[in-house]
Amino acid sequence: MTSEADLHNTFSLSCEFFPPRTEKGLNNFHQAAQALQALKPDFFSVTFGAGGTTQEKTMDTVVDIQKQYGINAAPHLSCVSSTRTAIRDLLNHYKEQGIKRIVALRGDRPSGMGGEMGELNYANELVEFIRAETGDHFTIEVAAYPEFHPQAKNARTDLAFFKQKIEAGANSAITQYFFNEEAYFRFVDACEKQAINIPIVPGIMPITNYAQLARFSDACGAEIPRWLRWRLQELEDDLDSLQAFGCDVVTHMCQRLLDAGVPGLHFYSLNRAAPTLDIVKGLKLL
Ligand code: FAD
Repeated sequence: MTSEADLHNTFSLSCEFFPPRTEKGLNNFHQAAQALQALKPDFFSVTFGAGGTTQEKTMDTVVDIQKQYGINAAPHLSCVSSTRTAIRDLLNHYKEQGIKRIVALRGDRPSGMGGEMGELNYANELVEFIRAETGDHFTIEVAAYPEFHPQAKNARTDLAFFKQKIEAGANSAITQYFFNEEAYFRFVDACEKQAINIPIVPGIMPITNYAQLARFSDACGAEIPRWLRWRLQELEDDLDSLQAFGCDVVTHMCQRLLDAGVPGLHFYSLNRAAPTLDIVKGLKLL
């Protein structure tokens, strides 16, 4: 059980954004960032577009976050379809801008981008490269998949490849979202048995829209349990009720995770503050 003192000492709270593309998007982003500041997060992370299409916007957004909000910002950085030179330039840029944390990913090649492979094939190679280039400058987060990565051959090798990322120098991990905390607990147990002892922070997806969530979950291999899918389907046309129900489900799951002593919570806030704030409001220890 996590005590309040433990929480203040070691607990990591973070929120994830995507780089805005339009004027309206930029307004939404700032409104959300301002509101989520109230949570005193350890960091805000910023995604990149598939294949690096929004890498520049990711750069601008992390710099904005640090300057305007004084919150540590962590760019997501992928190696797929990139080169060592391009990644080195990015790392140097981030260092110059005072960025101290990176979420290191393989990423996915967008469909239609042909067979262009990057020089680094998997996230463990990217972590190794970041360490070789920049030593201990960056705190490195990597991705973890309690329900396994959609392209994984099997659970055993997926875990072994996860371990390689830690051995390459990752400091902590953020999980793909899940709605079944048993999968997370089993994954953490399996990691401990493999002597993987870094913090594995659950990624939390607020539920705001059924169709979008179903599409995304199918693609990234996050399971929506049948009972939840059916309840959300039923509420699909009544957004207020769907969001209230979704908030209740996710808040209860977060509370069970907190009660079990998770090392943090990472919210996939995605440029909206209210769904994350509503969940946090309902949590006892925060
Ligand atoms: P890896 O850890 O490299 O693993 C990818 C797959 O390859 C797995 O199936 C693994 O089992 C296998 N594998 C690993 N190493 C080897 C090896 N040596 N040999 C053979 N197989 C191997 N996507 C984006 O486009 N933008 C983002 O900003 C973004 N942010 C994310 C943030 C989080 C917290 C998470 C969980 C995911 C995010 N993603 C993002 C999605 C991510 O890019 C995809 O899931 C991608 O397919 C895998 O990236 P990875 O870093 O987990 O890859």
